[in-house]
Amino acid sequence: MVIFKNIKSILVNMSQSHVCLTCGRPFPEGQGIILTLAGRTLEFHSKACAYSFLKDLVFSISEDCVSSPLRDVYEKRQEALEEMKKRAEKKI
Ligand SMILES: [Zn+2]
Repeated sequence: MVIFKNIKSILVNMSQSHVCLTCGRPFPEGQGIILTLAGRTLEFHSKACAYSFLKDLVFSISEDCVSSPLRDVYEKRQEALEEMKKRAEKKI
């Protein structure tokens, strides 16, 4: 009976686990990084594996396609940094 319980828990754990798209390592639910992009679920066991995949993805996009979203995200981050600076100055 104990063996049966263990097998059942292993099967449950296997069905809930994910497999890293970069290195193939399995990881449990609640860990790693899971993204849904263009209808695809992307699963990574670590930030390094996610970075490696996303870097590959970004550099495979043509400059014509990436320049507009790059400018938008870049400006958004710049504005956020400026806002953080202003808030820090107010506190002093
Ligand atoms: Zn990995």
